[in-house]
Amino acid sequence: MEILQDDVDVLVVGGGTAGVIAALQAARAGAKTAIVEMAGQLGGTITTGGVSAPAYFFSPDRQIIAGIGWELVLQTKALDNTPWPDFSRRNPLRPSYHIPINPAVYALVAEEAALEAGIDVHYHEILNDIERYPGGWSVQSVGKGILRKTLAREVIDCTGDADAVGILDLPRERGELRQPGTLEFRLCGYNADDLDVEVVQEHFEAAMQDGDLQPGDFWRAEDRLFIEFLRARGVNQQHIFGADSTTAVTQSSANVKGRRAVLRLLRFVRTLPGCEQATLDKLYPIAAVRETYRIVGETKITYDDYISGRIFDDAVCYTLYFIDVHTEHGVEQEFIPARRVPTIPLGSLIPKGSKRLLVAGRSISSDRLAHSALRVEASCMAMGQAVGAAAALGVKMGVPSRDVPIEAIRALLKEHDAIVPTMDGSEAV
Ligand SMILES: Cc1cc2nc3c(=O)[nH]c(=O)nc-3n(C[C@H](O)[C@H](O)[C@H](O)COP(=O)(O)OP(=O)(O)OC[C@H]3O[C@@H](n4cnc5c(N)ncnc54)[C@H](O)[C@@H]3O)c2cc1C
Repeated sequence: MEILQDDVDVLVVGGGTAGVIAALQAARAGAKTAIVEMAGQLGGTITTGGVSAPAYFFSPDRQIIAGIGWELVLQTKALDNTPWPDFSRRNPLRPSYHIPINPAVYALVAEEAALEAGIDVHYHEILNDIERYPGGWSVQSVGKGILRKTLAREVIDCTGDADAVGILDLPRERGELRQPGTLEFRLCGYNADDLDVEVVQEHFEAAMQDGDLQPGDFWRAEDRLFIEFLRARGVNQQHIFGADSTTAVTQSSANVKGRRAVLRLLRFVRTLPGCEQATLDKLYPIAAVRETYRIVGETKITYDDYISGRIFDDAVCYTLYFIDVHTEHGVEQEFIPARRVPTIPLGSLIPKGSKRLLVAGRSISSDRLAHSALRVEASCMAMGQAVGAAAALGVKMGVPSRDVPIEAIRALLKEHDAIVPTMDGSEAV
């Protein structure tokens, strides 16, 4: 096995939704930055998981998240044919401004940006160990044929599961009850408008009764007709109960469960009159997971904070989505009252009692209900940019990131086109 030795200012573990943006911000602010990413491309759940409709960059009134994530989204949209949402539909409770993007193009654009920023991107490497080292961390990652030892002044954990925090034995939370995951795929080869809704529904109900389809194969079965599944081409319509990305064993099990469901669905759909030629034109390699560990941070974002649109004293970005808990029976949702836009405090990105260690993405410190909303992609990107700024400034100032004055972080974020909350809730661009 080849032993590699590196020395960087900022090491980002996990180059997914939040991690790419964290690394870009750190590198663009002058920090020598590396990413360790276990997949073969950047983007995480957006690209490898195929969940490619980032939400919400906009409230009904204004843009609330911009910066580096938005820049990559715009670059991606300039190269694909995905539609823009209808911004004239200003439903104050549920803006529905998901912005569809082509995930393959996003992976290309994100990688180009990383290379141009001088980031060392280490694909197919997984975090193996992390230990304290004077003035920072000694981190081991392993990949086929290599063991990499990296000294880093700051580590940013963007693994989605808080893996670095877990190895360090810092506290994480994980409930018995967790949201199901979804393996993303897309059906093609039929025209949903030509199908007989009643016949389709009869076939669906019979297949459920006979066991040819199973609960979760169409997660909206309790309140929607199967024609909706077909209209959506199966995209985000399936639930994998118990999906868990925290170990290779649990992720493998979720992948297999998801693929078995897709096969059942494909076989079933081809029995429907008018769908005889149905097939798959997309199937992503991993099951996307909604919920695993959340860190215990200096500040925990609660449901009350989220629903009241709390602006924290140390807010570094906005976040907006509805409370969105997927369950075995569908989904439980609660919408944020109009004109409220919650925020993410820096304290929720710092594992309690730690130094030179930051977290961004779905595993930040929050209760389960707040997590169900703030886990969305635009919010993860904004948090990523905030921790990238804090880490780079810490290195530059010679202090741990947690001791960087909040105003310095906000100023750097603004320099890089992020939108930083102000105490009156108006945006500061
Ligand atoms: C089915 C589903 C549908 C969703 N729908 C939407 C939606 O429509 N709109 C929206 O905005 N959000 C949606 N979300 C939420 C959102 O996609 C995720 O919460 C968000 O992308 C998580 O970002 P992250 O950066 O925390 O993790 P990820 O994007 O998953 O990134 C984590 C990265 O870390 C890497 N990694 C993990 N462990 C290690 C390790 N030990 N060593 C090295 N690398 C590692 C992974 O390979 C990955 O690249 C959905 C989520 C799911 C699961």
